[in-house]
Amino acid sequence: MQITFLGGCQAVGGSGIFVSAGETRILADYGIYMNRRNEPRFPLPPPEEVDAAFMTHAHLDHSGAFPQLYSTTDDFPLYLTSPTYDFVNLLYDDMLRLERFPFGKEEKRKALKNSVPVNYGQQISLNHDCKITFLNAGHIPGSYSLLIEAEGKRLLYTSDFNTTRTQLLEGANFDNLKLDALILESTYALETHPSRAATEKQFIRTVHETLDNGGIVLIPAFAVARSQEILCLLYKNYRDYPITLDGMARGASRVISQYPDFVRDYELVLKSLSSCRWVKNDSDRVKAVFTQGIIVSPAGMMKGGPVDHYMKILAEEPDNAVLLVSFQIPGTPGRTLLETGQYFMEGKMSKVNAQVKIFNFSSHSDRPQLFHTIESLKNNSETTVFLVHGEKKVCTTFRDEVEEEFKLKTFCPKNGEAFII
Ligand SMILES: [Zn+2]
Repeated sequence: MQITFLGGCQAVGGSGIFVSAGETRILADYGIYMNRRNEPRFPLPPPEEVDAAFMTHAHLDHSGAFPQLYSTTDDFPLYLTSPTYDFVNLLYDDMLRLERFPFGKEEKRKALKNSVPVNYGQQISLNHDCKITFLNAGHIPGSYSLLIEAEGKRLLYTSDFNTTRTQLLEGANFDNLKLDALILESTYALETHPSRAATEKQFIRTVHETLDNGGIVLIPAFAVARSQEILCLLYKNYRDYPITLDGMARGASRVISQYPDFVRDYELVLKSLSSCRWVKNDSDRVKAVFTQGIIVSPAGMMKGGPVDHYMKILAEEPDNAVLLVSFQIPGTPGRTLLETGQYFMEGKMSKVNAQVKIFNFSSHSDRPQLFHTIESLKNNSETTVFLVHGEKKVCTTFRDEVEEEFKLKTFCPKNGEAFII
């Protein structure tokens, strides 16, 4: 079995893995990188023709380059879950609107036309010499990890995964898997997340304090998964204040509400979604900023989306709170707000008087979870580990630690590098 790493090596973004085994050629993920100017870059094209492609989840650093691939050919299936299909349908439309991407409606149509829906636990055979199993990755609804079995070898590509149970999802579990090779995401390989329960408690306390003091709470959140995670948490700790939902989080919520098999507690999801006010027009937005309550709206890093509109009115008042609920990439308005207390409004950077806080609701495994994942494999001394989807320093430091701790062959591949297992 040969593994070629096309992208996502020693960096976060542009994931792409090409696996060649016997007669079968597989492409797992094909995402974009976003550089500082927000221009997309693509991983290398696959070295040979593809028999089957796999989209582990909808995030664009894993999914955004597939339409580009279908611009030259359209004769291979693209395996994804139904929620992933619906999410990328939304996200691709968003990309097309931005017009920064070298594909059009036709390529999008071709990619989606070739899609084949799959479920967790399902197994498929390719060319009679390769078996693929889809495992819950616990990252966002519909995300899967990929177990590939061919030529007597077993390879797990975790893609983005989270072993922690969240409000929205059941955690991933790879305990006792017997593997010849493990391709492991390393985004937070050097960090330990605070306990989920403690984070939730602090978050809810801040929300309630703000409301009790007469303020409005603005929660900039990713449209897919994070918004709904927060809504579930707010619903469980409900106080008699309206919760407003805006932006693409509405479309993503509609998707999630259709798939009971891809969330942990479907009833909680439905109740939390039906308990909030869905913004229909501008007058609903005006109402939201003049009514004491909570507003959940993209963008998660405050770059685009209706959150900008809300900031203009809510930023000035010290009783209000802006609660960030995801990692803020340097250079984004959210990160700048966090570091400087300023936000770009009415043509200039202006001081924000509302309180600003950040909470760690990560959907990626952290260092103890990654160690546990390796440790809990069956006969792990026979497993070769490849670290991807992490900054260079993070990957190389973690590689040394894994080698030291488990005495395993561990690699931080470079883009374009190939290995035989
Ligand atoms: Zn992801």
